[in-house]
Amino acid sequence: MLKTKDILDEKDKRLRQISKEVTFPLTKEDKETIDIMIKYLHDSQIDELSEKYDLRPGMGMSAVQLGILKRYFVVVNEISGPDDEKKEFETYVLINPKIISNSVEQIYVEEGEGCLSVNRPVEGIVPRYARVTMEAYDEEGRKIHVRAREELAICFQHELDHLNGILFMDHIDPKNPYKGKDQMRGI
Ligand code: ZN
Repeated sequence: MLKTKDILDEKDKRLRQISKEVTFPLTKEDKETIDIMIKYLHDSQIDELSEKYDLRPGMGMSAVQLGILKRYFVVVNEISGPDDEKKEFETYVLINPKIISNSVEQIYVEEGEGCLSVNRPVEGIVPRYARVTMEAYDEEGRKIHVRAREELAICFQHELDHLNGILFMDHIDPKNPYKGKDQMRGI
């Protein structure tokens, strides 16, 4: 079982490397890694489990965060409302992903973007497209297109950055962390 301590910290140089394209069929190890990532992200968003296993809550994780320099990431997105009895999730596995179209409109996370590899609060605005269409491959090697908006779109862009050695704070101007706030919509 994956533990929070197994996730690379921002100081780890591997997070700054560019991950390599994946070839198909996937290896047994990669399939297992994907399952482990899905389970972590799912459990981390269930209060009892995140407490029990001491998991930092997160909705996205890239292979590089486990030291695997391959271009894939997993997103487990909650789709249930606050009044639903049980939390429901949808899972995305994107392999060799790229953005094929994006909105002009930009948004940012008002409370600040988070990352399982960054264990401290970081102030400032990370501009992201409000909507993106991603092209990627699924675990079977089939080409897929995924459209995302709002938080999910931000998550995809954040994870895609990881595959290129970019962390979210790289987008923040240290001299003026709230630069451009008026031109964007906070969510
Ligand atoms: Zn991250």
